[in-house]
Amino acid sequence: MVRVRFAPSPTGELHVGGARTALYNYLFAKHNNGKFLLRIEDTDKERSREEFTYGIFEGLKWLGLIWDEEVVYQSKRLEIYKEYAYQLVSENKAYFDYYNAQEWEEVKEKYIPKDIPINEKKHIERNLILEPPNGYKHIKQRGIGAIRLFVEDGMLISFEDKIRGKIEILSDYINDIVILRSDGTPTYNFAVVIDDHFMEITHVIRGDDHISNTPKQILIYNAFDWKIPEFAHLPMILGKDKKKLSKRHGALSVLEYKNMGILSEALFNFLALLGWSPKDNREIISKEEMIRIFKIEDVNSSPAVFDIDKLLWMNSEYIRMKDERELLILLKEKDNKYDEQKLLNCIRLLKTRVKTLNEFFEFGDYFLSEDFKVDKQAFEKLINEKTLNYLSLLYERYKAVQEWKKENLEIILRSLANELNIKPAEIIHPLRIVVSGKTVGPSLFELLETLGKEVVLNRINKALEMHL
Ligand code: GLU
Repeated sequence: MVRVRFAPSPTGELHVGGARTALYNYLFAKHNNGKFLLRIEDTDKERSREEFTYGIFEGLKWLGLIWDEEVVYQSKRLEIYKEYAYQLVSENKAYFDYYNAQEWEEVKEKYIPKDIPINEKKHIERNLILEPPNGYKHIKQRGIGAIRLFVEDGMLISFEDKIRGKIEILSDYINDIVILRSDGTPTYNFAVVIDDHFMEITHVIRGDDHISNTPKQILIYNAFDWKIPEFAHLPMILGKDKKKLSKRHGALSVLEYKNMGILSEALFNFLALLGWSPKDNREIISKEEMIRIFKIEDVNSSPAVFDIDKLLWMNSEYIRMKDERELLILLKEKDNKYDEQKLLNCIRLLKTRVKTLNEFFEFGDYFLSEDFKVDKQAFEKLINEKTLNYLSLLYERYKAVQEWKKENLEIILRSLANELNIKPAEIIHPLRIVVSGKTVGPSLFELLETLGKEVVLNRINKALEMHL
């Protein structure tokens, strides 16, 4: 059975890269009827924070990346790592390194020639540790130190990456691996191997920044004679300018996207396409469909490019696909102070025009309250004695309307323009700014019908009173 894991370190928020790694693990697991597990790599006490762990849970849950078994915390497994490191020492596969950081710097400075090839340096270092030179012999009495795994020369370490293909390195170029620090905490490579083994992980899918760690992890598996999982290293994600992805490119944490009104389905779809695509160039694909067709071998090995405009476009597509009731629930989750009918009006008229949920509130504030934002500059430009005069004539005619329907409202406005011998736009623009505070928006007559007679007349009246 396929078992994969997402193994974030809780030293920061769940960002685009991590979320994509989690998502590919999830798709791979579900496609293969396997299990998707979560491990929190929190051995670094200084940098790990509980609120980041919760943020990771929240972000994953919001994206629908639900893990199948109990979360594994590395910080609760410290004794296990120690036990296995000591086992390797007792089998003579690993050895103690008693130097403290300062002593080691001194010794290296004194005894290791500069510019020496890595494969030679490795042996000098090992000898200095196993046989400390004069002045350092006493350190062996300390009884406490770091633990290093012997890496013998002459082995070709090779693995078949499911995305990158074959990767090989000669063991001569790998230093003896520190597996336990002198404070008793495991190094990243060691803890990962112990945990992946006991969690029975079959496939390790992670960012390609870990490629250079993989041969070291393979050496640790070999030291225990454990089965080695398969590996797939995901391509980097770059900004549009091909530089390292950052906030500047609009790359935020998963929860920040939620806050800005991105739908979880849209972010899911967008992240999935950062490095993978179905063969037919479709861009809008449901989660179920992705699970059906996702193959890790189809992931690109070249870097993916993050394009925030594409995410916004995708989000607008997902907003269009949702029905009004679903959108209502989402908007109420964001802000519960508005009347449902008003929210529904706002949704109906703006659904095809917004890119985020938040834009319903921003662009449609005039549906929701009398306290809507007014584009002051446009107002100054459009409202003057002449246009107020048109509006006051229109006011009288609208007041007499029996059936407040967009068709009627349009006929009345156009015939007034005709009588005044002006273009309808000369009334339409001032009217729009007065009733909505904006120069753009949905069809004006539909907007008037939706706002209702009383609201429209009041808003026109307010403008007339303010300026006459
Ligand atoms: N904690 C590591 C990271 O966040 C996990 C790497 C791995 O999946 O092995 O990069």
